[in-house]
Amino acid sequence: MKIEYIHMYGSELITKKRSNVLKKKLERVFPKVLIDVRKSISISLPDDYPEIYRTIDRTSTPYTNGFQNKSFSNNDSFQGKDKCLILLDGFELQRIYSDFISEDELELGHVHVIFKDSLISTYDEDTRRFHARTLICGTPSIISTPGIIEAPAKPRDYYFKMMLSDLLNLSNEEIKTKFNERFIDYGDPSVFCAALGFAVQAVFYFLTDGDPFCIENTCTLYNSHWQEEMIRAQVKTPKFCEYHETLLCFNYQN
Ligand SMILES: [Zn+2]
Repeated sequence: MKIEYIHMYGSELITKKRSNVLKKKLERVFPKVLIDVRKSISISLPDDYPEIYRTIDRTSTPYTNGFQNKSFSNNDSFQGKDKCLILLDGFELQRIYSDFISEDELELGHVHVIFKDSLISTYDEDTRRFHARTLICGTPSIISTPGIIEAPAKPRDYYFKMMLSDLLNLSNEEIKTKFNERFIDYGDPSVFCAALGFAVQAVFYFLTDGDPFCIENTCTLYNSHWQEEMIRAQVKTPKFCEYHETLLCFNYQN
């Protein structure tokens, strides 16, 4: 599919200034696409959606993977300490947002990328659990900024050390320091590099007819399940594999 427009919607974290930086970087990847930056779409979720609108209890145990019957800890938000995150159902949110997109921009050729400072999950029928997501592809595509921090798993050793912190006589902060650069934490500017990678994946969803992910773990389109994979593919050395580089050239640079 030929993409002509990318519409980006900022958030509290992805400010207008940061959106413009992302726009410039996206323009380098997709040089023939018109990219514009828009304000966030303000929605208030209806009261009859209690299952998709839940304030997370910040006093609970840290996130491990899967949300069912679990709450979520966030002690250090982007904006300050002890700010609660909201957990939203990604597909419901996508459906609500799609109502705000004008009909002519629902046509093929338009890609909408919304940055959202809420934690987004989807329900997996097989595991019967909610799973945190960084990216929901479609119209619109939604990128969860806290999802970048919370959805891909941190190194296994990190969870072990956190569980044994009392025995090891280490504070949470001391443990985090030991895993420096092995996961993205709140306040880390690497989150913006990763956000760009997810925006690229959102566009490739349309370029590849719904199959944007790559099997090569060094490609920026790799579907990372671990923080270290995401950092390698999208932060430290963001580049396409040969196949996707060729695909991109074929679509936009000839
Ligand atoms: Zn690839």
